[in-house]
Amino acid sequence: MSFDLVLFGGTGDLAWRKLMPALFQAFRHGTLPAGGRIIGVARDDLSDAQYRDLIRSRFDDVELAKRPTPEEFDRFAGLLHFLRLDLSQPADYGRLAHMLRERHAETVVMYLATAPDLFTRVCQQLAASGLNRPNTRLVLEKPLGHDLASNREINEAVRRAFSERQIFRIDHYLGKPAVQNLFAMRFGNALFEPVWRREHISNIQITIAEDLGVEKRGAFYDKTGALRDMVQNHALQLLCALAMEPPINAHADAIRDEKLKVLRSLQRWTPMMLDQHVVRGQYAGGNVGGREVPGYREEPGVNPDSRTETFVALRAEISSWRWAGVPFYIRTGKRLAAREAHIVVNFREAPHAIYETPPGSWNRLVINLQPRDGLQLHMLAQGQESRRNGPVLAPVHLDLDFDKRFGSERVGAYERLLLDVIAGRLNLFVRSDEQEAAWRWVEPIMEHWAGDARGPRPYAAGTWGPSASSAMIARDGFCWSEEC
Ligand code: NAP
Repeated sequence: MSFDLVLFGGTGDLAWRKLMPALFQAFRHGTLPAGGRIIGVARDDLSDAQYRDLIRSRFDDVELAKRPTPEEFDRFAGLLHFLRLDLSQPADYGRLAHMLRERHAETVVMYLATAPDLFTRVCQQLAASGLNRPNTRLVLEKPLGHDLASNREINEAVRRAFSERQIFRIDHYLGKPAVQNLFAMRFGNALFEPVWRREHISNIQITIAEDLGVEKRGAFYDKTGALRDMVQNHALQLLCALAMEPPINAHADAIRDEKLKVLRSLQRWTPMMLDQHVVRGQYAGGNVGGREVPGYREEPGVNPDSRTETFVALRAEISSWRWAGVPFYIRTGKRLAAREAHIVVNFREAPHAIYETPPGSWNRLVINLQPRDGLQLHMLAQGQESRRNGPVLAPVHLDLDFDKRFGSERVGAYERLLLDVIAGRLNLFVRSDEQEAAWRWVEPIMEHWAGDARGPRPYAAGTWGPSASSAMIARDGFCWSEEC
């Protein structure tokens, strides 16, 4: 199948850090359809050869195992082209139309890896230049707006040029192998379904933690914050994957209908909940592992009086027969104690104890998303015999390490998603009504914070955030996984 992949923002950070390495991996794995062109677009005046050299040099920053050999790059480079185009200049789009007409590829992908304030204009101009043909697919990167109104505005503008089935809204968490395995575990096996409900699960915790600060993205982050950057999209998509009902089939809309139902059944915020069930924090400077790190307000590009949150912990509930009364805790932040993303599904205690065991439940399913991905099922097994009390149970876990099990056959998140776009599979992409429902749910938090003079709570770099996060979960009688 011939394809043209037009990468708007082809010289940007996302293009060279994520998209090009993912495209190269697909090329190396032989899964990228033959006969394709990857056309980088930006305002620089580069020839194809200069663009190839630029991309080649960027691969020096990619981890060794994913770096092409010189021969591999030479073959991959044959796919790479460059087009100088200023997206704000309507006249420039004619050059793109001309380039695409040269070969009439069966599929044309327009990947908008540029600032979102260009999205509306780009879509209008693509339509005005006749570049929104039925074989065209449009990929939109996050963030799609900064609130419900701006999200709707972008979605409406995009839909004036493209139909929903042509629009691929990326949430790269959905492309992560562990998330796809979560779907496979829940809907490909009968084992978990009977216990996947309020009668057996006491609480679910979603943690997306970064140990780094905002690095060079201070100016962007200061306008965004953790709630918009991580909760509204990635964390809520994970929550949907955990809480959704089994879809009637594996088609995109069947899956997205079920996710939408979860978002719509998230309990609405009351003033009490906003006060007690949401914690926002901002990292202070300090010594982490023997190194002094700046506080958030000292980071380049950040307002020294900034009230932007770099940490959020919240408690959500889903109003449904399956989940009523089960808290879903979400926690995400920067400069935390570790770089890791995981989901912990805590099961209820055994109803009647015949063994002597420490209090609490020892049954939990841990889904690791980062840095490695895999599943661990924690339980109690018979350990050593105690002379006085007979058998003593010891905590053990079954460990499924997907990296070890599937090794080099594994497909990374962006690789998976790019291949899906080219193939026209929408399963792992977010529909506009899902996005709107997510924004509708987080907006009261944003409004509450805007009117709350207290601002974010400071937390020491290298910790798990403000102590209020532990206090929030402790009020329910639970604790974050690293605390129990
Ligand atoms: P970036 O490094 O600033 O790159 C922006 C790209 O857009 C550059 O290639 C730039 O090239 C091009 N561009 C800007 N204005 C243009 C115009 N008027 N006409 C043509 N090209 C133009 O940004 P980024 O970090 O790659 O982010 C791109 C998008 O992805 C943003 O929406 C961002 O929020 C999103 N995103 C990024 C990441 C990430 O890890 N970086 C992760 C998730 C989402 P010229 O200036 O040379 O024209």
